[in-house]
Amino acid sequence: MPELPEVETTKNGIEPYLIDSVVEKIVIRQPNLRWPITPELPENMEGQVIRSVSRRGKYIGIHTDNGTMMAHLGMSGSLYLVEQKTEALFHDHVDVVLSTGQCLRYTDPRRFGSILWTENDWMQHPLLNSLGPEPLTCAFNSDYLVAKAKMRKKPIKTFIMDSKIVVGVGNIYANEALFKSGIRPDRHAGRISERRLSLLVENIKIILREAIEQGGTTLKDFVGGDGKPGYFKQSLSVYGRAGSACVNCQKELTESRLGQRSTVFCSYCQK
Ligand SMILES: [Zn+2]
Repeated sequence: MPELPEVETTKNGIEPYLIDSVVEKIVIRQPNLRWPITPELPENMEGQVIRSVSRRGKYIGIHTDNGTMMAHLGMSGSLYLVEQKTEALFHDHVDVVLSTGQCLRYTDPRRFGSILWTENDWMQHPLLNSLGPEPLTCAFNSDYLVAKAKMRKKPIKTFIMDSKIVVGVGNIYANEALFKSGIRPDRHAGRISERRLSLLVENIKIILREAIEQGGTTLKDFVGGDGKPGYFKQSLSVYGRAGSACVNCQKELTESRLGQRSTVFCSYCQK
């Protein structure tokens, strides 16, 4: 599943090809994604100049003077540029045809993603207006997390994966950040010291930044014939390694399920 680093890399990859280009046409081959594509998208976007591209949580906003196209990659979606003559295949649901001779193509085999249009400030859209802070901004800091965690009985892993608390900490990154911080994933958020929560904040930032940097090396994949971006192969300490040896103490890593998500941790190193 594309996580925040993949979405950030997608945004950075497509941005230079979109800015200042004119949308000549929107081609919708399959409108039924997670939600139906906003029917007014073509009439509002065609003829418009793309002014900027941004990201909020896992949404990419493509902004024109008329409004914003909001794209979410869901479980299996990708957005990338192709030459206009590139034949569309079965899962290529939407093309944003540009004045540059290229088009921005949206491909999504499982169709859990979405393409929506809003004429208003996209930050006020119901899908975005209650999101927590971005993890890589100063708004996500230890004072903030300590205040939010106070009295909370939720397991810390479920807590940091809640997009109302902080966006973009998916399952892989939650597992890794808790291991790096020495915190058991099932410990109640409200029972963790300020010092350890502060360490967790730092480690979430470090792990996400590393993933984004790695993604930067695959930027070329966002342009070209069939170059669909793959997911990042980050070296992981715990995720996907249940039953293997802990990289710190060599004892066997434990797997459990928390909020239905695979949770791997070292019961010796994480307290
Ligand atoms: Zn260990």
